[in-house]
Amino acid sequence: MKHTSYIELSKSALNNNINYLKGLAGKDTRFSMVIKANAYGHGIEDLLPMVEECGVDHFTVFSVAEAMRAHRVKQKQCEIMIVGWIDDDHLAWAIENEVSFYIFTLERLHATCQVAQKINKPAKVHIEIETGMHRTGFYKEDLKDVVRIIEDNRSCFEVKGVCTHFAGAEEMVNHDRIKKQIQRFKDITNGLEKQGIIPECYHCACSAGLFNFPETALDLVRVGISSYGFWPNTETKMLNLNDGDQTNDPLQRVLSWKSVVMSVKYVDENEYVSYGRSYLTNHPTKIATIPVGYGYGFSRTLSNNGYVLIRGTRVRVVGAVNMNMMVVDVTDLEEVNVNDEVVLIGKQGDQTITVSSFSDMNNSMNYELLTRLPGHIPRRIVS
Ligand SMILES: *Cc1c(COP(=O)(O)O)cnc(C)c1O
Repeated sequence: MKHTSYIELSKSALNNNINYLKGLAGKDTRFSMVIKANAYGHGIEDLLPMVEECGVDHFTVFSVAEAMRAHRVKQKQCEIMIVGWIDDDHLAWAIENEVSFYIFTLERLHATCQVAQKINKPAKVHIEIETGMHRTGFYKEDLKDVVRIIEDNRSCFEVKGVCTHFAGAEEMVNHDRIKKQIQRFKDITNGLEKQGIIPECYHCACSAGLFNFPETALDLVRVGISSYGFWPNTETKMLNLNDGDQTNDPLQRVLSWKSVVMSVKYVDENEYVSYGRSYLTNHPTKIATIPVGYGYGFSRTLSNNGYVLIRGTRVRVVGAVNMNMMVVDVTDLEEVNVNDEVVLIGKQGDQTITVSSFSDMNNSMNYELLTRLPGHIPRRIVS
């Protein structure tokens, strides 16, 4: 193994999740898998062909750079949709390659119109409506300009979608805010229809929307975190598990992260381990060094705090996590050798390390920890 760790992607887990979530969305709802932020750390290039084989033909990315990566590796006919960043210089690329994108400012609408005219091909656009998140999207008052520009330049636009995004559908304390967003979306889209803007599809639901407000699935759902096997947060999990049965999670983790033991040695009692003085041995200690550190996405906050699996046993990180290495206490393991498998995330024997159990953090940290996994760690596909 040339690299110090690798990431495994489970095809059967992915297939399981996609089938389950498609089932929830219903057969009349298109399933868009969100693959922004390097497919939530899983790796766009490795994941996308597998997702296609699971029968998905719509992908959501954040930026034009991600769209280009997805476009390069896609094998089938599919729609790639940019929900965030695209600069004017790349509008022509998107239009020519039939990559759709969100429009949420008049500037982008004008620029799109000009480019579409110039290359004589309609842009596939999604009109984003501001319904209460206050991030991006058109306010109701701006829409008359949007309608006028589209109506005056019909040949420049193919209105693929009208959409919005919920401001935290995973939390029940936010229930009223989401309900208001749903109502506003209905009102505004009705108004747009009256003015002749009838898109191919309406969409607003992310994972938590699909789980907690199933009526918001509409024509298309944009599903990220749950297709990778993670719940948006614990609350959503508890509310949606089949009969509250915690042993029967319908979602399966797609990603595992593995390394090997690099060295094993003994430390006397009363010695500090790793940089500084954050860990002092209180007994003769057997330590194993693992060639993964914060430079690889294993956070420094896991110093004296995180766990890994070796020989089916949970062992603790001792001392500071370094840039390239960490040290774990393996005193309780009778046998441990160089090259033994180390599981940083995933299963070994009957033990599991979840991303969130990296430490005592809330499940919603899944999003952040996953996307910090560096793209340079090699990915391997397993069944
Ligand atoms: C990230 C994102 C999603 C997916 O959210 P999940 O909670 O991961 O399902 C959907 N829509 C938009 C616009 C997003 O930015």
